[in-house]
Amino acid sequence: MKKEEAEKRIEDLSIELNHYNHQYYIENTSEVSDFEYDTRLKELQDLEAKFPALALPNSPTKRVGGDITKKFNTVKHEYPMLSLSNTYSEEEIVEWENRVKKLVNGKINYVCELKYDGVAIGIRYENGAFVQAITRGDGTQGEDVSTNVKTIRTIPLRLKGKCPDVFEIRGEIFFPLDAFNALNKSREENGEELFANPRNTASGTLKLLDSSTVAQRGLDCFLYGVYGTDLPAEGHYNSVLNAGEWGFKIPTPEKKYLKKTDSIEGIMEFIHYWDEHRAELPFEIDGVVIKVDDYSQQEELGNTAKSPRWAIAYKFKTEQASATLESVSYQVGRTGAVTPVANLSAVALGGTIVRRASLYNEDQMNKLDLHENDTVFVEKGGEIIPKIVGVDLTQRAENAQKFKFISNCPECETPLQRLDGEAHHYCPNDLGCPPQITGRIIHFISRKAMNIEGIGTETVEQLFSEGLIHNSADLYSLTFDQIVSLERMGDKSANNLLEGLEASKNIPFERVLFALGIRHVGETVAKKIAKALKNIDAIMKASYDTLIEIDEVGEKIAIAIQHHFQQEENLEIVNGLKAAGLQFEIEEKELASSVLQGKSIVVSGVFHTLSRKELKEAIEANGGKNVGSISSKTSFIVAGDNMGPAKLEKAEKLGIEILSEDEFIQMIQ
Ligand code: NAD
Repeated sequence: MKKEEAEKRIEDLSIELNHYNHQYYIENTSEVSDFEYDTRLKELQDLEAKFPALALPNSPTKRVGGDITKKFNTVKHEYPMLSLSNTYSEEEIVEWENRVKKLVNGKINYVCELKYDGVAIGIRYENGAFVQAITRGDGTQGEDVSTNVKTIRTIPLRLKGKCPDVFEIRGEIFFPLDAFNALNKSREENGEELFANPRNTASGTLKLLDSSTVAQRGLDCFLYGVYGTDLPAEGHYNSVLNAGEWGFKIPTPEKKYLKKTDSIEGIMEFIHYWDEHRAELPFEIDGVVIKVDDYSQQEELGNTAKSPRWAIAYKFKTEQASATLESVSYQVGRTGAVTPVANLSAVALGGTIVRRASLYNEDQMNKLDLHENDTVFVEKGGEIIPKIVGVDLTQRAENAQKFKFISNCPECETPLQRLDGEAHHYCPNDLGCPPQITGRIIHFISRKAMNIEGIGTETVEQLFSEGLIHNSADLYSLTFDQIVSLERMGDKSANNLLEGLEASKNIPFERVLFALGIRHVGETVAKKIAKALKNIDAIMKASYDTLIEIDEVGEKIAIAIQHHFQQEENLEIVNGLKAAGLQFEIEEKELASSVLQGKSIVVSGVFHTLSRKELKEAIEANGGKNVGSISSKTSFIVAGDNMGPAKLEKAEKLGIEILSEDEFIQMIQ
């Protein structure tokens, strides 16, 4: 390549990669696959190596991709938090190992680990207590996301055993696949846009400003690196094991997540094992990481501007397969949202046979420009059903017709609607469209709603098609004879179902409210509304202004609630359920005392006697109200260790009293 051509290519690639970086680290979306990104980055690296004078000063090859959003305080890292050099080729791992052998003296041990696909975090501990959690940022400084990180249950706030007085531990925060799929399922049920993949969602979640939402999402973390000046171990492997003894969730050799070896054969064995078995893991990995174990050898090898020379990542290519697109069908959910699904010729992918792929919505379908009998490329990530990532245009027949999104409901033929700003089409016939009716009843009986034992999707569908139920309230008038007349239903199962229905009459009001299946009213919102308005009559009568006053209730939810109770059928359901004896008002807990009556209290810092949750419960049990942020209306603050400096400053400025944990306990006793 000539110099002028190289100059232009270097500039184009740098601009393109910087754009992908911004999307990936700040917006949490990806326009291209990681493999495509890495291939372009490698091309840029090779060009810069050939023409060093042409490299741009801010080249993406020299910078750690930055996630600084300015939503949180920026904090300087004590130890630089770097990226990892990576490769998709086994030969390059061999070359790396040879290079390492040439550069350091003595016997070399390597530690092999999984490369978790999430976001990096560095957490500082002092005297056995959590102090601060910082994102990687640009490698030199990151953002303080301590409040969010503290909600992750596997990250200890206090350590056990004999740990160094001051140290930092690093690891990866990720979404377990179960939690990710459950989150998307409930978003689908509530008619919300689905999240694309666990990595981007973990990264987005960590940067949310509301830590109670972070807490609900179920993030997890594996800790894999310890940094400090007086660590008890002399190498990485033992440091990780030590961290396990101090209470951290670490990768273990027993699960084959961690391995020490002194040979390239041992490294390759680890790579091959996980390439074959990664689909069995309950979380996503995008490769494995090989590190030199000994700290003094690590120091000898040092770092480049972007990554340590003592470590390398071997990345797995996302498995792809091609299949024929046989047809597109449309599913109608309980909210009426219509989801297109691609039906494919059967193909083996990631250890399972794939026959269907999600197409999400009309825009996504149009973006792929799908035509009849297209040969499509399918990938399977953390999602339950795989997705189509592209079309092999060379295989398309000349006269193939483009797939057009349907205009009428496939179940009840009602013309579909697409509201402004929403990605989904909806069938507006919520009272007459069969899958919407059964979908709502299935939601009603589900575990997180009424949790009715002895009944599942199939039984609901049978009861509906036999004309025995039309809505959830009808369940409570079913007789033994009606139930036992169903296919595959014996005496015992029929009695189980009746007992299940009886037991559900004790389910608390907030779950009954959630079970009603009001659009956009998920579990948390139902809880907040129940707590604020206390009973169903108040909710049904509530004005728009009253509703949007409630924490977490916005315009969309307020309108959906009002719309729900304007419908005669829904009022009949509530009346039927009331007559059956379900709970329609909040059970007020008897207060332990009323010493905190009328007081708004902020809890901040790390505590010793009570957990944060216990403290907050104690506030409510004594008549007080927990509030998240300090304002002039705050009555006082219960402060533990390491209360955030910003909070402290604000409290002092507003002259708000600060109580220690012990003073607070004395107060309520
Ligand atoms: P990286 O993700 O390839 O590697 C470094 C990171 O790996 C560390 O920061 C850490 O978070 C993580 N990690 C997981 N397990 C680890 C372990 N056991 N030990 C040490 N670290 C571990 O590098 P990066 O700089 O975070 O991101 C660059 C990569 O991200 C690219 O190679 C590309 O694949 C992807 N990317 C994709 C796009 C896109 O648009 N698709 C854009 C930017 C970046």
